[in-house]
Amino acid sequence: IDKTVLMDEKGIHRALTRIAHEIIEKNKGVQDIVLIGIRTRGVPLAERLSAEIKNIEDVSVPVGVLDITLYRDDLSTLAYQPVIRETKFPCDITGKTLVLVDDVLYTGRTIRAALNALTDLGRPHVIQLAVLIDRGHRELPIRADYVGKNVPTAAREIINVQLNAIDKKEQVVIKEP
Ligand code: 5GP
Ligand code: MG
Repeated sequence: IDKTVLMDEKGIHRALTRIAHEIIEKNKGVQDIVLIGIRTRGVPLAERLSAEIKNIEDVSVPVGVLDITLYRDDLSTLAYQPVIRETKFPCDITGKTLVLVDDVLYTGRTIRAALNALTDLGRPHVIQLAVLIDRGHRELPIRADYVGKNVPTAAREIINVQLNAIDKKEQVVIKEP
């Protein structure tokens, strides 16, 4: 295996199965859980976690969608701003245990924007975070409750997450530009 491949298809599958078990264990079941996928790749990941949970508990956990786009207002990498573009929730989020799902956690700005959006839209009981990859470099006091793999990265490196549902290929690779 090429050493730049951080996770292959089996590795991704195992990580999602483990996280599904962790979500069930931490919450002592799946009652009132709603998975919220952050577009783009957080959405198929949330759907797959829902399917894994269904396999284990025989309960269908609903999946919602948050579309948060980062745009850069100047040429510095640190100045980009997250903007909420679309929200699609399967139910009222008040009183629910929301599990945000994203592919990569980096500075934490996207998650902060998601938290702002969610608290504007209702009063969830708890909000947790699941990510496939935590690549470090946080700029805000945000951490994930569930992590597929911790990958220490240099700022210039990019994690390329490829999922069958979108990319017709399934692996996580690290790239230097
Ligand atoms: P943050 O807001 O934490 O800086 O960045 C997280 C968001 O940017 C995630 O939605 C993620 O999709 C994207 N992102 C940040 N760094 C990477 C990376 O190295 N690879 C990929 N695929 N996405 C990244
Ligand atoms: Mg993203």
